[in-house]
Amino acid sequence: MIEKHQGAVKQITSHSNPIVKEIKGLVAQRKHRNQSGLFVAEGLKLATDALEAGWNVRYLAIGPEARNNPAAQKAAANAKARGALILEVSTAVMSAMTRKDNPQTVVGVYEQKILSAQDIDPTSGVLWVALDRVRDPGNLGTIIRTVDAVGGSGVVLVGDCTDPFAVEAVRATMGSLFHVPLAKMTKEEFKTFAAKWPGTVAATHLKGAVDYRTPDYSEPVLLVMGNEQKGLEDDMAAACSTLIRIPQTGQADSLNLAVATGVALYEIRRNHLEL
Ligand code: SAM
Repeated sequence: MIEKHQGAVKQITSHSNPIVKEIKGLVAQRKHRNQSGLFVAEGLKLATDALEAGWNVRYLAIGPEARNNPAAQKAAANAKARGALILEVSTAVMSAMTRKDNPQTVVGVYEQKILSAQDIDPTSGVLWVALDRVRDPGNLGTIIRTVDAVGGSGVVLVGDCTDPFAVEAVRATMGSLFHVPLAKMTKEEFKTFAAKWPGTVAATHLKGAVDYRTPDYSEPVLLVMGNEQKGLEDDMAAACSTLIRIPQTGQADSLNLAVATGVALYEIRRNHLEL
């Protein structure tokens, strides 16, 4: 079990160090992430994003190449001041921890944050995206990044979703994970949540009768997206006030989930975004 440390620095050169093993476990297995409530984010940019956004950091591992980098030194000082243990590791140890041949030079371990339905005040935001059983970590990360880009308020994970704190999902967010609130709900919780939503509840659906460019999308908007293989479940669709469709030509059955989310988000936010 990973323990809390009070800002200190520790050199690690051995692959069998217990902290290295724990970080490997967090990278490899959802079970370890769930049990500890921690996750791993790779790279200096993500460390800087996490620290600036005030996330609790447990460890910051710094490889040899980063030790003279002023931004890495600043991140380490900041993390240490917040009680993190700074790990000075060899490239081989960094490789072992992250299970990568060419690892990043900075790797952080952070405390997870996830909201429930009761934590969300719809009137304090403009746009939430709800994902029904999203399975692909790359899609989830890309959607979180896009929600950030359009000034969205957060993402709700409904039902059995891929882990937003898996390394692949975190990587695909490019740091937006640290800026976009995430919530988790069961399908039943979501249906109650959607029924009370004060603004537009629009689901994208391949059988939607409404062109996605036509609704007025009165705020706050709850945009609901279906599962990659199965689409949106019927009772989930029934919980939404509008079923919108993105027109297609050509032979593709549907758009990729993250692409469809991006297209819909940019339409919904059309009048709020300027160069
Ligand atoms: N076979 C699935 C189906 O029948 O719905 C395809 C799912 S699609 C890959 C994943 C999700 O992206 C859909 O549930 C929907 O939310 C959204 N989507 C993809 N293409 C769309 C389109 N042209 N119009 C509306 N939503 C679309």
